[in-house]
Order: sequence, then C-alpha cells, then structure tokens
Amino acid sequence: MIEIEERAERVLAHVPEWIWDGESLPVPVEDIADSVFRLRVREAEDLSSAPGAPALEPGSSLSGLLLPDRGEIWVNGPEAREWPGRRRFTIGHELGHWCMHRTDHVASIYCRSASVDPEEERPERPVAEREADAFAAAVLMPAALLRKQYGRDRDFAHLCALFGASGAAMGRRLHAVI
Ligand SMILES: [Zn+2]
Repeated sequence: MIEIEERAERVLAHVPEWIWDGESLPVPVEDIADSVFRLRVREAEDLSSAPGAPALEPGSSLSGLLLPDRGEIWVNGPEAREWPGRRRFTIGHELGHWCMHRTDHVASIYCRSASVDPEEERPERPVAEREADAFAAAVLMPAALLRKQYGRDRDFAHLCALFGASGAAMGRRLHAVI
C-alpha cells in the first residue's frame, strides 16, 4: 500500500494552487476530481438505474460508480445524506479507480456499498476495492497533514470534522499513519 500512498501524494502535489493550497482542510476532493481529472460528480437517488449497472442481490446497493468514457463519477445520494463524509470518501474511492484501475476495455466500474469503506475490514473484499479505499484515505487524510493536526489536537470528533471524514475512515487512517 506504500505505492498507493505515494500515488495519492503525487496527485495532491500536482493540484494547481488555485484549486487547493496544499494545506487547507478539508481537501476539496470534488474540485480535484472535476478540475484536475475532468470527472464530473453526479449524485443519483438510485444507482442501480445507472447505465449498465449490475443486478444486485436483495438488500445490497451501490455506493458509487465510475463511467470513464463519460468522465463521470456517480455517488449514492441517500447514502451521502445519511453519513457525513461518505460522499467525499466515495468520490476519493472512484478517483482511485480512475488513477489505478481504468483500462481501455472497462466501460464502467461499480462499487457495492459493502465494498467501499466498510465498518469492518473483510478479507474477501476484492483487491481493487481495498486499493481504491487506501487511495481515498490518503487523498482525504494526507499523512503529513493528519500528523500535524494530531500533534496539536487529539479530539477525534474534531479531526473527523476538520478532514470531512467518517469516524470509521478516520479511525483506520490514524491507525495506519500515526
Ligand atoms: Zn470501488
């Protein structure tokens, strides 16, 4: 995962100053997707109606999807409203797929809710999903900025609010970088 960390750092290092100054929080992941990668973020009420969406087993849903040909990231609207930080994480996750897993013959990438930022790590999660999560975490909670903040203030709720992250994502990230 060190490689993914470096990849995310390179992406952030190349964000033009007018989009992000490299230290303001939260990291403007949607502006980065839009202005740097030309990926438009759309929110949809029901992602299963997206073009080419797979049939899902009952009770499962999609958190996000990437349509490389259309240059679009779609996020699950109800989920984004229910959990603060979720929308941002999903955008970071799809950006990870764009940077690491996009190939000419893949028209679209669909991410099940259980695959994106789950509460508990499960070994059967596909490697690409875990990689996209690692990328999202590294972009949304850059190691250097998180260490700096953590050195000043260890209030967990404040850190989550500052970085625009869910408690689960922040907990894992602190464990990984502190
Ligand atoms: Zn995914």
